[in-house]
Amino acid sequence: MKQSLLFTKTRREDPKDETAKNAKLLIRGGYIHKELAGVYTYLPLGLLVLKNIEAIIREEIEKIGGLELQLTSLQTPEIWQKTDRFSDEIVDVWFKTKLKNNTELGLAFTHEEPLTNLLKSHINSYRDLPIYLYQIQTKFRNEIRAKSGILRGREFIMKDLYSFTKDQSALDTFYEKAKVAYHNIFRRVGLGDSTYLTFASGGVFSPYSHEFQTVCEAGEDIIYISDEKGIAVNKEVYNDEVLTDLGLKASDLREVKAVEVGNIFKLGTKFSEALDLFYLDEVGKKHFVVMGSYGIGLGRLLGTVIEVLSPNDGIVWPKSITPFLVHLLPLGDNPEVKKQTEVLYKKLIDQKISVLYDDRSLAPGEKLAEADLLGMSYRVVISEKTIAEEVIEVLDRNLGQTSKLPQAEFIAILNNEIKK
Ligand code: ATP
Ligand code: MG
Repeated sequence: MKQSLLFTKTRREDPKDETAKNAKLLIRGGYIHKELAGVYTYLPLGLLVLKNIEAIIREEIEKIGGLELQLTSLQTPEIWQKTDRFSDEIVDVWFKTKLKNNTELGLAFTHEEPLTNLLKSHINSYRDLPIYLYQIQTKFRNEIRAKSGILRGREFIMKDLYSFTKDQSALDTFYEKAKVAYHNIFRRVGLGDSTYLTFASGGVFSPYSHEFQTVCEAGEDIIYISDEKGIAVNKEVYNDEVLTDLGLKASDLREVKAVEVGNIFKLGTKFSEALDLFYLDEVGKKHFVVMGSYGIGLGRLLGTVIEVLSPNDGIVWPKSITPFLVHLLPLGDNPEVKKQTEVLYKKLIDQKISVLYDDRSLAPGEKLAEADLLGMSYRVVISEKTIAEEVIEVLDRNLGQTSKLPQAEFIAILNNEIKK
């Protein structure tokens, strides 16, 4: 894409009403627009990143059998009353609204109840199980604190997956697969080294739920990491009994701040009993369906990637989710520079390599500064100097390395990258 056609505007100054690094950089780079605290619009560049993250999540969730659907945001109270979760005393994040005739409705903050209810008309016998359903959809939560940019939104996109199985052992098997899928997702977006399976509260059939926590100063959670075992314990359940249960010693753990990027729960029959979702087994005996739920916040994940991998003054996108793999910068107004850039631009397009071509007539310093803010994985400079040397200058932002190499060599590197 030619940058002159891109709908975006970068800013030199930090927005005054943001304290979080993720929001500052994403707003300055023209990736998102703040509507109000905790409510952000994704602009074209931001949406490209979000879609890349979405594609990775979709791929990993479908690999373990997930089928995609889309549930509604508008919710009637009745089904939520069955689990006692419509009450504002019990759930303090509801946004509620009304129909013209005054009937109360809620905007879904999660979807266990409606999905469990929906499946009553689809599950009758053991032959109908297991089912794994997921969606990538907007959630509404009236969060009190929304100061962490897109890490904590009042309206945000979540991937939520729900498993429906016959019994505990089928749940356990799927739960382990979900753990693997989650590790794959976090590794693929660039957070593999900093994300830990973390024991947390909230288990129903098991004493714990599991969070995926990414080590990060901007995080709101405190976790204790065992480097030896590669797992962590959330402060909310950290005590002697739990450490003994997990075979951990306090002296071997290190305390860090972290962001909860994902969360998986064994729900057991809590929701199926409340909403009467059951199946008949081989001899016609009735059993409640055993459930699990598995969430990832896409915006929170995107924001965490920035918090962890970008310096304060500019973004560095991992190659797996960068909006464009290559940012092509011709510097100076020599016609030969423009000609050679266009040749390379066409070659990259022919090879289906995503490229942003800065075709605007701006001073070199301005182009470079803007490129450093936008953070595409590779920055390629073509100038009179590089032409004289018969090379292009390539900055690999993730490695922080600049090298001069012939065009063909660079294209070969990119093709390798894409195959990976
Ligand atoms: P938290 O403890 O951070 O408030 P939660 O435990 O309420 O989150 P879940 O209901 O389990 O979160 O939601 C699943 C996932 O959705 C979380 O792991 C997180 O990645 C994401 N998420 C939750 N709340 C928000 C939010 N307000 N903004 C963005 N993402 C969120
Ligand atoms: Mg939580």
